[in-house]
Amino acid sequence: MDLILARNRTDLIKARGGGTLALVPTMGALHEGHRSLIRLARDRADHVVVSVFVNPLQFGPGEDYSRYPRTFDADLAACREEGVDVVFAPAAGDMYLPDRQVSVCAGEMGRIVEGASRPGHFDGMLTVVLKLFNLVRPDVAVFGQKDAQQLSMIRRMVADLDVPVEVVGAPTVREPDGLALSSRNRYLSAGERRVALALSRALRAGAGEPTPARVRAAASKVLAEAPPELELDYLVLVDPATFTEVSDPYEGEAVLAVAAKVGATRLIDNMVVRLGR
Ligand code: AMP
Repeated sequence: MDLILARNRTDLIKARGGGTLALVPTMGALHEGHRSLIRLARDRADHVVVSVFVNPLQFGPGEDYSRYPRTFDADLAACREEGVDVVFAPAAGDMYLPDRQVSVCAGEMGRIVEGASRPGHFDGMLTVVLKLFNLVRPDVAVFGQKDAQQLSMIRRMVADLDVPVEVVGAPTVREPDGLALSSRNRYLSAGERRVALALSRALRAGAGEPTPARVRAAASKVLAEAPPELELDYLVLVDPATFTEVSDPYEGEAVLAVAAKVGATRLIDNMVVRLGR
C-alpha cells in the first residue's frame, strides 16, 4: 500500500483501518533520529502514523518558528522508505480554531529547566501532543530521549489526564563524533558544529562520575574550556521523573541535561547517568 497523506481529521478517519496504531509526532526536517523512532514504532504496532507539524504554540517570540527548516518532500520520501502508512501534515489553520480557548497547562514542571528558558513552550507542546493523540487515537506513541523533559512531561500528562496511550521513549541517535542529531544542526556552520561538540563531550565527562557534585564538576569543566561562541544556558543534573535537581547523596538514574547557544542556534542534549554503588 502506498503512503497516505492526510491533511485533516476527515482524511485521517478514512485512513484508519484495523490493527494497532503507533504515532510518531515530529516537526519534520526528518533525520536518522526520527527514522529510528519510526522503526521502533513499526516494531510496536501494525500501522505507523507520522505527524509533520511545526507547532506555532510551542515557539516563543523571537524563537525560530518562521525559519524552522521545512523539507516536506524529503520528509515524505523518508517516510515512504521507512514503510510509514500515513503522514499527517495539517496546516496550522486546520489544527487550531481561530477562537480556541482551552489548552493544556504543563504545571510547575513546565516552568523549570527548559521551561524556565522557554516560557510557555511545554504548554504549547502538550496541547499539540494531546490534540494529535485525540485525532490519531494511537495505541502507542514514540518520543525521543533527546528531548528528555518533553518525554517526562508527556508521561506526566498521560498519567495525570488518564490519556489512553502507551508512551515509548527511544534512545538519542548521535553522529559518530557525538553530536546529537537535530533538525537545528543544519543552522550550524562548520566552525560552530565543532564548538557544539563540547555539549556531548561535557555529558560524557559527567556520566563517568559517581556523585552528583562530581558529575556536575566534570561536565562544567569541559563547558568552561569551550570556545566563547558557546554560550551556556544551563547544565543540570535532575530526577528523570520530576526534573528537579538531585543532590548528594543520590542513588539511581538522573538526567544530565545541557542547553547552550552556539552562534545563533540553541541546542539541547542530555544523558542518563547512573549514580551510587
Ligand atoms: P522534533 O521534530 O525535533 O520535534 O522531534 C520529533 C521527535 O524526534 C521527538 O520525540 C524528538 O525527541 C525525537 N528526536 C529528535 N532528535 C532525535 C535524536 N537525535 N535521536 C532520537 N530521537 C530524536
